[in-house]
Order: sequence, then structure tokens, then C-alpha cells
Amino acid sequence: MQGRNHLVVNAALAVATESLFHPAGPVFHWMDACSFFTHAGALPTVGTVLGYKCIYYSCTLLTARLPDIDQRIRIFGKHRGFSHSLMGLLFFALILLGGGLLFADFLRRRGILVSQEIQMLGLLGILSLTLGCLFHIIGDSVTFMNDGV
Ligand SMILES: [Zn+2]
Repeated sequence: MQGRNHLVVNAALAVATESLFHPAGPVFHWMDACSFFTHAGALPTVGTVLGYKCIYYSCTLLTARLPDIDQRIRIFGKHRGFSHSLMGLLFFALILLGGGLLFADFLRRRGILVSQEIQMLGLLGILSLTLGCLFHIIGDSVTFMNDGV
């Protein structure tokens, strides 16, 4: 599967996953957008919901081609090897989670307190980046390797 096709497949799977499981929070209705203009108190709520959606979709698209890094960097063996496996996906998620925990500890040691909402945004980012890689693997699993990437 070519790079642009991965973006399309990731976007479609991200919309389907969001519609079914709502990983980026509650459903955002257009009436919520209207309340943005009619009720000044709704601004933080609408902004939070939109922020979650933006992080979810941008992260799933950001990693749409990441597993194909094995074509540029040959440390993972052959193409569609470790970086396209569930073990590689778990490895990637653990690296992200460990990096996030180290960064949170770094901030805490310097007296910088991070709100629980920001922590949840970080976890959503990690989940979305991992889901983006999973969507790539799903997209590759329905194509043959001889069609390019
Ligand atoms: Zn691939």
C-alpha cells in the first residue's frame, strides 16, 4: 500500500473507531458547536471536546506511515517484519508510555504540576499514535507486498 493510501485508510479507520468506541471522548454534535456561540459558559467544554478530537485524529494520521520506517532503517529486519507485528506495536506503545512517564516525572521533580486533564490528553495521544500504527498494519494486511510499500 502506498503512503497516501495509508493516510486514507487511517482516516477511515479512525472515524470508524471513534464512531464505535469514542476513544476521544463524547460525541460532538453540531448543536454543541452552536452552543459555542450562544452560551459563553460552554466555551471550555466545547474547546475540550474539540481538543480531544483534534489530538485523536492528528495522532492517528501522524503515524499512518511510521511502521514503514523499516524500509529506511534496517534495524527491524525485513520489510513488514517486526514493525508490522503486534509485538512491535506493543513495543512502540510501551516506549511511548515509558517516555510519557519519564517526562511526567521530569516535570514533577521540577515542581511543575500537570493537571489531570493534560495527563489524559497525553494518554489519548499515546493511544492515538498506537492506534495509527495498528490501522497501518490493518491496511497492509489487506494488500500484497508487491504493490509498492
Ligand atoms: Zn507498511
